[in-house]
Amino acid sequence: MNNGRYDAIVVGGGHNGLIAGAYLARGGKKTLVLERRPILGGAAVTEEVFPGFKFSVFSYVVSLLRPEIIRDLELPKHGLQILPLESTVTPLDNGDYLAGWSDWDETRREIVRHSPRDADAMPIFGRQMQHMAMAVKPILAMIPPDPTSLAPSDLRGMLKLGGHFRSLGAERFHTLHKLMTMSSADFLDEWFEFDPLKATKSASGIIGTFLGPRSPGSAYVLLHHYMGEIDGAFRAWGFQKGGTGAISNTIANAARALGAEIRTNADVERVITKDGRALGVALKSGEELKADMVVSGLDPRRTFTQLVDTKDLPAELVEAVRRYKFRGSSGKVNLALSGLPDFTCLPGVGPHLRGAISVSPSLDYLERAYDDAKYGEFSRNPYMDIVIPSMIDPDMAPPGKHVMSIFVQYAPYHLNGGWTDAKREAFGDTVIKTLARYAPNIEKLILHRQVLTPHDMERMLGLSEGNIFQGELSLEQLFFNRPVPGYARFRTPVRDLWLCGSATHPGGGIMGANGRIAALEVLRARGRKAA
Ligand SMILES: Cc1cc2nc3c(=O)[nH]c(=O)nc-3n(C[C@H](O)[C@H](O)[C@H](O)COP(=O)(O)OP(=O)(O)OC[C@H]3O[C@@H](n4cnc5c(N)ncnc54)[C@H](O)[C@@H]3O)c2cc1C
Repeated sequence: MNNGRYDAIVVGGGHNGLIAGAYLARGGKKTLVLERRPILGGAAVTEEVFPGFKFSVFSYVVSLLRPEIIRDLELPKHGLQILPLESTVTPLDNGDYLAGWSDWDETRREIVRHSPRDADAMPIFGRQMQHMAMAVKPILAMIPPDPTSLAPSDLRGMLKLGGHFRSLGAERFHTLHKLMTMSSADFLDEWFEFDPLKATKSASGIIGTFLGPRSPGSAYVLLHHYMGEIDGAFRAWGFQKGGTGAISNTIANAARALGAEIRTNADVERVITKDGRALGVALKSGEELKADMVVSGLDPRRTFTQLVDTKDLPAELVEAVRRYKFRGSSGKVNLALSGLPDFTCLPGVGPHLRGAISVSPSLDYLERAYDDAKYGEFSRNPYMDIVIPSMIDPDMAPPGKHVMSIFVQYAPYHLNGGWTDAKREAFGDTVIKTLARYAPNIEKLILHRQVLTPHDMERMLGLSEGNIFQGELSLEQLFFNRPVPGYARFRTPVRDLWLCGSATHPGGGIMGANGRIAALEVLRARGRKAA
């Protein structure tokens, strides 16, 4: 046993683990964060995959990171610098395009070209979604109360929640209810008529899920992606200078400044327990580290079936974890390019190359992409969200060269016949072929490519079934059900073992709320014990 005893050991140096570590250190706890990989950040990492070309290998844009965390941990002082994404352009199959620019007047003129009615509806829709994001904002920061429990903390939580819903007023409450229950296609149908506009907006509702735009529940995922806020601007998405890994390093710097210790290449094999209580961790290397508590940033399958012995857990929890839905559905293709793509719909170099390009020409297109996945194939014509980070931050690629990030759906984890090297390459070819329909010079520009399937994400990051949010953001896996009913308060049945990753409330994305609330709850519980 190592003699240096810790108050808290955090397993996993993803951004949530790092945030939990920072808050625990800020609360006066002697804290150690252990990360299996040589680099910190989990799904939020920057790597020089090919010499001179740096990639946000997995997650690539930021919006959801909670402003209170940015303030509490003084992240700008430690390197946070978010550069705005200027636009979203959807190339259309008739050679035209649909664009949303950072300037509203310009966007309005653009939407009028396609549908004057939609141009009128857009600002009202935007305000409504902002109100919804505001309505959900307090919920994001709360410990989900269990409606079946009579514990005073749950009853207080339910009362607070009821009061909050009442304060919304009837109209906003009804809209929230619609967002919680409808498909994104149906919800958007109530607002807009131009199909590519509905398709592009609905795409936020399918990201990271095994749902199509016409699946009930996808409207909630749409809202989840609206909750972001950069410098007070809701729904703004940006790019961290240096890639998403720089966000993780910024958080790590803040955690270290607060006194946390962080170790990489530290693969935790198991949580050491005695009499149903966590006493520390054992690393794969054989080293054992003692702590008063252990906080796991891993998903529930890893935590409950690998880190601890299922014999120490109630059978109903083990069964609920077995049923918890991962079903990874996303792939990623990272390209090193010798120059810039030339889009037929907007030829040449322009501001559209500093924003997102969305391959989502129609609702039917997206739904058919889902149909392929439903039957165990990757999409023949996939949805793709493309950014060229080197256009926003030139340090990402050598001078004159570029990096392109392509987020792709659907690439089902459970592929017919399983994923093989040949299937990964076929998936990569499909992505490039699809892009070439809109930017025909792309093939000639490719110097290197990295194709990542959900299997690769599982292998590299420990994300079970490659789910990008450590488990689907489906309604039955949210709020007091996340990760599973009865265990949404960041606690586990193993005393002094806590959860803090994306599989907890309020879900995935570079949001950090999970790590923050978990740490605050640990500190609160400890404070009470000490009192
Ligand atoms: C392809 C992809 C694209 C995405 N795009 C975006 C996006 O653009 N914007 C956005 O907001 N979100 C995006 N996301 C989602 C977001 O990145 C994740 O929800 C978030 O980063 C998860 O953070 P986390 O800290 O909860 O968990 P993770 O990032 O999963 O961190 C868990 C950490 O634990 C480590 N670990 C695992 N096992 C062990 C062990 N035994 N011992 C020690 N350490 C261990 C892992 O290596 C990892 O570092 C994307 C995710 C993916 C995969």
